[in-house]
Amino acid sequence: MANWREHVRKVTPYVPGFQPKEAGVIKLNTNENPYPPAPGVCEALRGFDAGALRKYPDPTASVLVDALASYHGLPPDRVFVGVGSDDVLAMAFMTFFDGGAPILFPDVTYSFYPVWAGLFGIPYRTVPVGEGFVVRAGDYVGSGAGPADGNCRACGGIVLPNPNAPSGLALPASDIEKIAAGNPGCVVIIDEAYIDFGGETCLPLLGKYDNLLVVRTYSKSRSLAGLRIGYALGCADLIRAMNDVKFSYNSYTLNTPTILAGAKALEDEAYFCSTLQKIVETREAAKRELAGLGFSFPDSAANFIFATHDRVSAPEIYARLRDRGIYVRHFTSPGIDNHLRITVGTDGEMAALYGALEGILG
Ligand code: PMP
Repeated sequence: MANWREHVRKVTPYVPGFQPKEAGVIKLNTNENPYPPAPGVCEALRGFDAGALRKYPDPTASVLVDALASYHGLPPDRVFVGVGSDDVLAMAFMTFFDGGAPILFPDVTYSFYPVWAGLFGIPYRTVPVGEGFVVRAGDYVGSGAGPADGNCRACGGIVLPNPNAPSGLALPASDIEKIAAGNPGCVVIIDEAYIDFGGETCLPLLGKYDNLLVVRTYSKSRSLAGLRIGYALGCADLIRAMNDVKFSYNSYTLNTPTILAGAKALEDEAYFCSTLQKIVETREAAKRELAGLGFSFPDSAANFIFATHDRVSAPEIYARLRDRGIYVRHFTSPGIDNHLRITVGTDGEMAALYGALEGILG
C-alpha cells in the first residue's frame, strides 16, 4: 500500500536561537541589538494607517529599494530586498547555485548554509578553517578550491560571512577581492550581516566584479530583527536574476509597514552611528572582562564574542547562566561545542553577565 510519508521531502532544518517567553531575562543568544530602532522608525510605525493593509504591498518594494540605492550610491536595479537576509540568501542560493560543481563555505560558519544546500539539492564542500577559526582566502581560489569541472570552474559558488559567524573574525577586503577575482565563473556571496560592527566592507569591489553579491541585514546593526528586512547589492544582471526567481515564488514578500519603516531607518545616520559606537565600546570592554575571567576567544569584529573557558566546560556555563536568567548561545557541533557565543548587550546586561560568571567560575 502506498504511503505518502515515503514521498515527503526529508530535510534537516536550521535551529534558530531560543526565544524565551518569560520577562526580565537577559538575552545574549541571538545577536540582536540591545538598543531600540531609530526614533523615526517607531514614529512611522505608530503613525501607519492600518486601513492601508486592505491592499497588497508594492511587490517591488520600490520605496525601500530606492532608499537603499540612494544610501549606498547605487542605481535601484542593483538592489534586491527580502524578508530578512535569510530570505535573501535562500533566494540567492536558489538563483545562482545550479547543482553542478559543489559550492564552498567554511566548516565553521553560519549553520543555515548547509540547510539551504540540502533543501535545494545543491552539492557543497566545507573548507576547514585554520588555527583559531581563521578563514584563509587562498583556500577558495585556484587549486585550493578543488578540481575544475567541465566548465573550468573549481567550484559552483562561494558563500562567506564577513565577519564570519560564530567566530566574529573579519577578512580584509583585499582577501574578498582575491576570492572574487579568482572565481569569475561562479557567484561569490559575501554575507555582511555583522559588517557595521567592525570589518572592512567589500562594497567598493562591486564596480569591478560582476560575480560578487553582498548581502546585508537590518536585524543586527539597525535593531530591526523583528521587522525582517534583508537586502543584496550586486550588478544589475545578478539582481534581475534574483527578482526573476522571487517573482516565480512569492511576489509579495515585504509588507507595507515594513517597506516604509525600512526606508525611514536609513534617514537617521547619527542615531545609527551612536548605537554602533556604544556596542563596539561594550564589546571591547567585554574582551577585557572575559579574558580576566579565564576565557579566550578570536578577536571579534562583530556584535558577539565566541569564547571558551580554560577550566569550566561551555555546556556547564551555558546551563548555569540559563538558571540565572541569562541566555547565551551554545552550539553542539564538534569543534565548537566547548565555546559560547555571547551577544554584546548593554553595559548593564554585560555587568550582570560578568557577575554571574564570577559566581559560576568561583
Ligand atoms: N547571516 C548571518 C551570518 C547570521 O548570523 C544571520 C543571523 N542568524 C543571518 C545571516 C540572518 O539574519 P536575518 O535573517 O535576521 O537578516
